[in-house]
Amino acid sequence: ERRLAENGGAGLATATPPSLDSGLDNSIDYYIKKQLRVWCGLQNGQWELGKIQSAVGGKASVTLLDGTVLTVSTGELLPANSEILDGVDNLVWLGYLNEPSVLCNLQYRYHRDVIYTMAGPVLFAINPFKDALISGSDVIMAYREKILDSPHVYVVADTAYSDMMRDGLNQSIIISGESGAGKSVTAKLAIEYLVEVGGGNSEIACRIRESGFILETFGNAKTSRNKNSSRFGKLIDINYNAQGILQGACIHTLILMFEQSRISQLNRSERSYNVFYQMCAGAPSDMRDKLNLRMASEYKFLNQSGCLKVHDVDDAHNFKKLMEAMDTLQISLGVQERIFKLLAAILWLGNISFEVTDHENHVTVVTDEASRSAARLLGCKMNDLTVALSTYRSETLMLHQAIDTRDALAKFVYTSLFSWLVETINRSLEGETEPTGRSISILDIYGFESYQKNSFEQLLINYADERLHQHFIRHLFKLEQEDYESEGIDWRKVEFVDNQGCLDLFEEKTVGILSTLDETSNDSEAASLTFFNKLKQRLSSTLSFNDEKGVFRVHHYAGEVQYDSTGFLEKNRYTLQSDTILFLSSCCKNFLTNELNLSDLDKQTVGTKFKGQVFRLIQRLETTKPHFILCIRPNAKQLQGMFEKDIVLHQLRSNGVLETLTMSKSRYHTRMSHQEFATRFGCLLSDKTRCQDSLCTSIAILQQYRVLPEMYQLGFTKIYFRADQVSVLEKLRQQV
Ligand code: ATP
Repeated sequence: ERRLAENGGAGLATATPPSLDSGLDNSIDYYIKKQLRVWCGLQNGQWELGKIQSAVGGKASVTLLDGTVLTVSTGELLPANSEILDGVDNLVWLGYLNEPSVLCNLQYRYHRDVIYTMAGPVLFAINPFKDALISGSDVIMAYREKILDSPHVYVVADTAYSDMMRDGLNQSIIISGESGAGKSVTAKLAIEYLVEVGGGNSEIACRIRESGFILETFGNAKTSRNKNSSRFGKLIDINYNAQGILQGACIHTLILMFEQSRISQLNRSERSYNVFYQMCAGAPSDMRDKLNLRMASEYKFLNQSGCLKVHDVDDAHNFKKLMEAMDTLQISLGVQERIFKLLAAILWLGNISFEVTDHENHVTVVTDEASRSAARLLGCKMNDLTVALSTYRSETLMLHQAIDTRDALAKFVYTSLFSWLVETINRSLEGETEPTGRSISILDIYGFESYQKNSFEQLLINYADERLHQHFIRHLFKLEQEDYESEGIDWRKVEFVDNQGCLDLFEEKTVGILSTLDETSNDSEAASLTFFNKLKQRLSSTLSFNDEKGVFRVHHYAGEVQYDSTGFLEKNRYTLQSDTILFLSSCCKNFLTNELNLSDLDKQTVGTKFKGQVFRLIQRLETTKPHFILCIRPNAKQLQGMFEKDIVLHQLRSNGVLETLTMSKSRYHTRMSHQEFATRFGCLLSDKTRCQDSLCTSIAILQQYRVLPEMYQLGFTKIYFRADQVSVLEKLRQQV
């Protein structure tokens, strides 16, 4: 049965015994007679394995594995695969592709610490929440030499590398999944492999490895879902020369402006960016003196959430690692000092307080250790800082305005520093020679988010996620089926849920969500309600609205999300006062200059800017051959060994996993033009049988080597093959 399935021919319709889906009555008798396993749907929505004892009038009596006997409607029964298929490496090999079978296979493997499974062309990685001990140089070499070939991130990375070398085409590895599903760890493994096979001992290899740690330190934070959550999306290009030797790398980030808010405002039990805690815990005493540095508990920006430490995380040790990583990337000691000064300045800014000077709530900055330290670390006079924080165009600010200005300054310093850091890392990773057009890009981007309360942040994240899902659908369903159709080959269309409609809702030029938001944001008088009402006027047929709460609901491919429109306009408008930029420019002479100049010119709204970043990212990906990895969160508690079926099932459903599998079962894995095929394999024919016309040569090869008709199809201009068929011909070719 397994071989039948492996050969790709065994779709649901041809599998034996007959499917319960079709001809139910006949199949039930067959299942009773042979005592074959079935899936029995329970009232709680779960599925259990059992065997049918008898069936009458649409009801069946089923004995479950634990001996319980149930009477269920025959509609609640689905065919189960035989034991021989338990835990197969590739879900496509399952004879029956129904939800319980797929879920059970993943669970079977997970409980045996096998976290990777292929699902057709996609690799599933289920987060083990513990060291799975299947990585490192030895394992990499074993995969490279094909001593190991079980599903792994390394197989995906190796396929990308081999495809790049064979075809001379850029590749990408696209890693998706919810927050905490394991994307960053997976990306790290992929990068580790790609660096190792490109010559792992070189200077550039060391720098690429260390750069990941620096980015994580500045861009990750503990959230309620993940103790080391990336708060920015990233795409890393790894560049090689024509011989496949590592040349350099380039990091592109997708920074959400709003994640700046983490600098000054923290939700309960969350933390700000890792670097602050590391610096407070690990800075050596001379640095502490220079920065007037205290413990994290003494800074308001850090102590407000009641969470200073993370279980099993050694901040002081990580600070040492950070310094070493900076050394490896040749960030000079002088520059390192400037970075830490700015970080300490941010912390002291948070401790600055204001004194109300009149009954209109106007304020002045309190002169104390906090303000003095902040001014010194920023490199400005105390008086200049006071003016910057308490006045705007010579008018004295009121308390809430001064607090906002202070927080905006802190956030801006941090974002500029982050952008500068990415640039600096990129310069260090550039490599000495020009890239040769051989590169592999690894995308690690935040996935779908849905909380009880969702705001502008979630809207943008979920928009990016929709765009990426469209890329996935386009490559796995749309392009492929369009190609089959245009080539006139015999193909039964696989239906899939297209999210283009949802994307249109966001992107529509005049009435879409983002343009409505921009239009309202540009009107300085407009308030949240204006935006809500306008959206309702324009999109009442596609979105649902709750007037009382000011919320609207969007049907995302991954589920419905309810957004609270309060604060959308302010967050979208976010523009920094030019006064603040001027002030900072005067402090940071010869440092962050690019970042400060750019900010001054940039007048776009946050939404538009984000949309532009997402577009550019997808455009880049479109020039590559994609390889997909889907990370799955097995439970909501971040615990090892716990596989919560409903949580996993939701992720499988929202990613269209069953459709992907159905598609993979029947797809043709290799295609080439008749010309290419004839040129490559023409040598297999004797001079007598060879002909001028490439189609005719192709047919002659297929006939001479008796390639089975179900293993290929001839299109108008191309020839298509099932999995592994071409490698059989390739072996023959090498023997000629
Ligand atoms: P976010 O979107 O929030 O950044 P993520 O999907 O990138 O989340 P990770 O940070 O990669 O998630 O993983 C969360 C945690 O799960 C890790 O800190 C690690 O403890 C654990 N983890 C993930 N993958 C693995 C793995 N392959 N082996 C061991 N532990 C893992």
